[in-house]
Parts: sequence; C-alpha cells; structure tokens
Amino acid sequence: MISLVNKSFFLTGMGSGIGLATARLITNLGGTVAGTIEHQDQAQAVEGIVAPNLCFCLDVTDTPSLQKAVNTAAHQLQGLDGMAACAGVIKLLTSADTETEDWLRILDINLNAAFQLARATTPHLKANNGASMVFISSQIGLVGHRRAAAYAASKAGINGLARSMALEWAGDNIRVNAVAPGPIATPMTEATRNDPQRFKTLQDGIPLGRFGEAEEIANVIAFLLSDASSFITGQVIVADGGFTAQ
Ligand code: NAD
Repeated sequence: MISLVNKSFFLTGMGSGIGLATARLITNLGGTVAGTIEHQDQAQAVEGIVAPNLCFCLDVTDTPSLQKAVNTAAHQLQGLDGMAACAGVIKLLTSADTETEDWLRILDINLNAAFQLARATTPHLKANNGASMVFISSQIGLVGHRRAAAYAASKAGINGLARSMALEWAGDNIRVNAVAPGPIATPMTEATRNDPQRFKTLQDGIPLGRFGEAEEIANVIAFLLSDASSFITGQVIVADGGFTAQ
C-alpha cells in the first residue's frame, strides 16, 4: 500500500499533464506538494492541490530562480522527501531541420533543468535519511524517433543521469530513478492526437492499443517516491503499453 503521509515533494511542470496528475495523486495519498508552473494561467489547475505560497511561476531553465524556489519550499516545509522533474518539451523536427537554438532549448529544459533541480534539492534530501528523486524520461530515450533527435538525446541523457546519481547518492539513502512513458494523452501529444492519420499509426504501434493516461504515469511516479519502492534505485521504469517490448 502506498502512503505519502507526512512527506513533502518538489515537482516541476505541475501546470498540466503528468506533473499535474502527480501533484494531485501525491496530495490524495497524504503528501504535500510544492513546485513550479510555467505560466500564471496554470495556477488555476493546481488550486486546491498546492498552497499558493508553495507554487512558483518560473522558467525551469532560470537556474537561480529554480534554486531559490526549492530553498524557499524546503524552508517552509521543514525539508523535502523527494522531487519529480516533470517539466519538458518536444519539437517534432528531423536533425537536419533542428537549428542550434532548438537543440539547445530542448536540452536546456529536458536535461539541464532536471540536473539543476536534482542539485538544488539534494542538500535538503540528504538531511532527511531516506528520500527519492524521479526524473521523467521517455520511450523515445530508449528507441529513438525519426523526427525527434534532440528530444531523444535529452531523454537518453536523463537515463544516464538517473543511473549515475543513483550510484552517487545511494550512501546517503537517496534513491534516484526515471520513468519512461510511451505516448500519453496530455497537452504534449494533443497535435498528434488531433491528426487522425498520425494518431492511428501511433496507436496501432502500441501493443495495448491505446495512449496512456497521465494518471497511469503519476501512479508509477508516486510509487517511486514512496517507501513502497525502497529497494529500487538506478532504474528506468518503462510504462509504454508494451511498445519497447517489440
Ligand atoms: P505537458 O506539456 O502537459 O507538460 C509539460 C509541462 O512542462 C507543462 O506544464 C509546461 O508548462 C512545463 N514546461 C515546459 N517548459 C517549461 C519551462 N521552460 N519552464 C517551466 N515549465 C516548463 O506534457 P506531459 O506529457 O505532461 O509531459 C511531462 C513530461 O513527460 C515531459 O518531460 C515529457 O517529455 C514526458 N513525456 C511525455 C510523454 C507523452 O506522450 N505525453 C511521453 C514520454 C515522456
């Protein structure tokens, strides 16, 4: 049985999709959530889930602001028990069409900001004797994609980061894992789902025959954040309806 009672977590990307579903589930399981949204118009989505003084509107690539938000949250919550780096972007571009600016921006949001979040939260987690970090990778970090080389590189980077930090922090009882979702029905895949041809092709390639729901990924994240996964570290947990089993 998963319980997050008396535990506090810092999340990025809480304003929509997987981050929002995770914030809601953590709260339902008795935990407290602090974290980031990208735009003020996302504040309404987290109303009733995250206290206004624990909700920070910022760009995750602004490292000083991210660090300040983490320190403020940790101070207000008297420590942190874990973090989940849910903010991310995808741009469907071939590598030939990927300008340097796109390449750097995708890596900055998906990989660098996740690294900076881990660095910012680590001192608070170390003080805690038993904590958990969860990165969000992707199926595309494992198998590649014809039109998402930068995204694939950022997510493959996340896998290496999670495994390496798991080794680094095991002695401090901080577990570090990544979740690698397949196609999930969130705003990120809205354009694809609205294109009947692309939607059918993608869906037909998933053995379970459907897109996943944000809540199905939140379940995995909450499990990894909880003591129910106390012997799991350094893993990339794939939740993709069987896609990478083929
Ligand atoms: P989403 O678009 O709903 O969520 C992404 C969130 O990140 C948004 O709330 C957005 O505001 C935030 N964000 C993006 N750039 C930001 C920035 N610079 N600063 C602050 N916040 C920023 O999509 P989602 O599906 O919930 O994505 C969550 C994570 O799951 C991402 O890392 C994504 O790569 C990963 N993922 C999604 C899928 C999928 O099919 N939806 C599959 C595999 C992995």
